[in-house]
Amino acid sequence: MSAYRHILVAVDFSAEDDYVAEKAGALAAKFQAKLSIIHVLDNIPMPDTPYGTVIALDEDSDYPLLEAEKAKLLGLGQHLAVEVADCWLLWGVPKQEIIHLATQQQVDLIVVGSHGRHGLALLLGSTSNSVLHHALCDVLAVRLPDA
Ligand code: AMP
Repeated sequence: MSAYRHILVAVDFSAEDDYVAEKAGALAAKFQAKLSIIHVLDNIPMPDTPYGTVIALDEDSDYPLLEAEKAKLLGLGQHLAVEVADCWLLWGVPKQEIIHLATQQQVDLIVVGSHGRHGLALLLGSTSNSVLHHALCDVLAVRLPDA
């Protein structure tokens, strides 16, 4: 198997995120790959940003909720030794932004968590399922423990 050179881990800041992030970190170390992190804001109003859907991490805003999300992402980045420039906070639809960023940044492996939904829940769609089916690169779906 050829080595991965750029791994992107998608985090939703759920309780199981650490598990997904640690797996991605271990893979990046094994392959000596660059590691990037993405978190997509889909449940707070779109902040005023001059960069389209990208939210700058090095500029303070007046939105406490946004500052809290930034702090979580930067904390995880620090934990995984990921450069601030490779920690991506975007506003939008998670599956679309993950796939778009992966293509734009020439990522060759996306790591997502998977809740292993079945039946109707699966039909309704999930972020991991959409990324798995539509990404142009390899996708690792890390099976999360059932709630
Ligand atoms: P889901 O299939 O929707 O339960 O999401 C499972 C996985 O999709 C999570 O473990 C993350 O890897 C990714 N994900 C879901 N929502 C987001 C988000 N807002 N930002 C980044 N990644 C996400």
